[in-house]
Amino acid sequence: MKCGLEIHVQLETDSKLFCDCPTNYQDVPANTNICHVCLNQPGAKPFPTNEKALEGALKIALMLDCKIADDITYFMRKHYNYPDLPSGYQRTSIPIGYEGDLNGVRIREVHMEEDPGQYKPDLGLVDFNRSGIPLIEIVTEPDMNSPEEARAFLRELIRVLDYSGNARGEGSMRADVNISLEGGKRVEIKNMNSIKGAYKALKFEMVRQKNLLKRGVEVTQETRAFLEAQMITVSMRLKEEAEDYRYIPDPDLPPMLAEEEQIDSIKERMPEPPHIKVKRFMKEYNLAEEHAKVITSELELADAFEEIVKQIDAEFAALWMRDELKRVLYYNKMSFADSGITPENMVEFLQMVQKKEVTTKAGQRIIEQMPISSKSPRALAEEMGLVGIVNDDEVLQAAKQAIAENPEAVSDYHEGKKAALNFLVGQVMRLTRGKAEPGNTVQILKELL
Ligand code: ZN
Ligand code: MN
Repeated sequence: MKCGLEIHVQLETDSKLFCDCPTNYQDVPANTNICHVCLNQPGAKPFPTNEKALEGALKIALMLDCKIADDITYFMRKHYNYPDLPSGYQRTSIPIGYEGDLNGVRIREVHMEEDPGQYKPDLGLVDFNRSGIPLIEIVTEPDMNSPEEARAFLRELIRVLDYSGNARGEGSMRADVNISLEGGKRVEIKNMNSIKGAYKALKFEMVRQKNLLKRGVEVTQETRAFLEAQMITVSMRLKEEAEDYRYIPDPDLPPMLAEEEQIDSIKERMPEPPHIKVKRFMKEYNLAEEHAKVITSELELADAFEEIVKQIDAEFAALWMRDELKRVLYYNKMSFADSGITPENMVEFLQMVQKKEVTTKAGQRIIEQMPISSKSPRALAEEMGLVGIVNDDEVLQAAKQAIAENPEAVSDYHEGKKAALNFLVGQVMRLTRGKAEPGNTVQILKELL
């Protein structure tokens, strides 16, 4: 199987691509954030291309290791007839970046487009608030060989877009995929709007084509739509050729030129792309790939990690950040940036665990409070009475008490039920308020039992 992707994502800007209408299109009544320019009325004079959109597109292209067009670029009119497009053409630029790479998948080109409006066929209504919102389109070569590879690529691409800070991410994504099997023809599937949807569509389409080929039936070159609710693809139209769009350069829009200085300045300011960061973290901090991926899942988290390891052993910090911190953030449905946890907080916290001022168990309880409370980890530990590790004598006393109070668990233990020991460890933890070291506790309990 060979598969290539075309991914559209909205660029994050305050105003639209060729006018100053605001770009929030969802929380306002239909057809309010519009003007004659984004409706492309006859005689409307578009502004020059939104500079922030152009800069965002250049940054994303650079993060995808693209070459940047060194000559002028400009917008074309791509003609098609659909109610979401009053002018009958969409303004779409020639490539501003090309020949890039993301984890071995070649990026054919990156260009800009304007978003069309939203047509609601069931209501017979069109909302043009979305018209003219800047989009970036990323086109890959057919370098993916399975639905899983396509999914991995999309996940990584969304990470790059998130890192750039210039795109609206998976929520605004619309992907088209083309897929062909050996001996078959190229089929395009349109308008999948999540990574999961794209994966399922590819999986379905792969099986459909395989079955056709097995039966000796020819696969037709066509465009299909994925019906997510039914998990199937259906024929939309026979594939149109590029000529059908009757592309012409848009004479109303000034050409653009990315100057070398501008590109250098973007390169200087852009973050290291996540797929490059993963490789560096593996090498520099000796992390396993999976762990490096977790820690680089968010730019702020990755940056914090690098601050923290100036003072804390990298392996120890990575262990706590990828297991406990990520668990707590996930539970609270928070990003690291939203949690308000600073690198200094993490250093203070990790030092307490490292110096055995608190037990591992207590550490887990403290970190659970860190995104919710504005107090420092030490203040939290004190408030929760978790500072200090109890000595073996106290553990012994608590263990004796736990055994005396739970005869059933004791007999379960002697019958070979492993859970009984865990239960007793839990009782000792409760009695010592989490200040007993689990290792010692198990040892002492076993001896007593
Ligand atoms: Zn407008
Ligand atoms: Mn497009």
